[in-house]
Amino acid sequence: MRLVDSHCHLDDAQFHPEQTQVVDRARVAGVKYILSIGTGNGPPDLQAAVRVAERYAAVFATVGVHPNDSEKVADETFPGLERLLQHPKVKAIGEIGLDYHWGVPKDRQMPVFLRQLEMAKAAGMPIVVHTRDAWEDTIAVLRNHWAGSGLDCVMHCFTGTPEQACSCLEMGFTLAFGGVATFPKAVEVREAARITPPDRLLLETDAPYLAPVPFRGKRNEPAYLAYTAAAIAAARGVAVDQLADETTRNFERVFRIDASTTS
Ligand SMILES: [Zn+2]
Ligand SMILES: [Zn+2]
Repeated sequence: MRLVDSHCHLDDAQFHPEQTQVVDRARVAGVKYILSIGTGNGPPDLQAAVRVAERYAAVFATVGVHPNDSEKVADETFPGLERLLQHPKVKAIGEIGLDYHWGVPKDRQMPVFLRQLEMAKAAGMPIVVHTRDAWEDTIAVLRNHWAGSGLDCVMHCFTGTPEQACSCLEMGFTLAFGGVATFPKAVEVREAARITPPDRLLLETDAPYLAPVPFRGKRNEPAYLAYTAAAIAAARGVAVDQLADETTRNFERVFRIDASTTS
């Protein structure tokens, strides 16, 4: 089985003492690639995930300013990000978006989101989008500033309704499902996963957060991806192996991974 963890915070301090073991356990559990999300602690250090990706062949990175770090942006932040986009292991800008949960002012988040969308378009790169308690604004921005760009957009940790899934799919986006899909009450999330076409689906952990059942509430890690894969495969009525193949192919296509150079 070849799974891909399309969203993990491998640079997180919770992994520091045993980062190599975490990557090893993932490989043993069938995880072929890990995309390490490069938002770290926010500016000025946006290279945290790049450093991890340099250490392991199976790990790739994104770079970006998380909406919750919008107020940390300084003059040098965007030129620095632009330079990081040249790194061969950087495959996307993310996670970027809008988050109205933690009280960062909307008028600080919006320009940071828009600026990074422009940067991704200029670089011809896909984006990984985070949205929390900000669905309508996020979709409006993506509709006006991204859909039609011809570039990929991954809605990470998709926990919306089937209707919200449809509005993303209509715009050509890809939906990434994580541990929440294993939670007993997440009936709508599993239904959203069920109706997503096989070429528009990804799996993720968002580790160290959002561990799947039976590890719910504990520290998550990429090796636990198999539990989420099992739940999504069951919801879709397909074998886990088939889901693994589909989601791995999608990952290689969306993030332009040259499989011949990494195995
Ligand atoms: Zn997120
Ligand atoms: Zn994340």
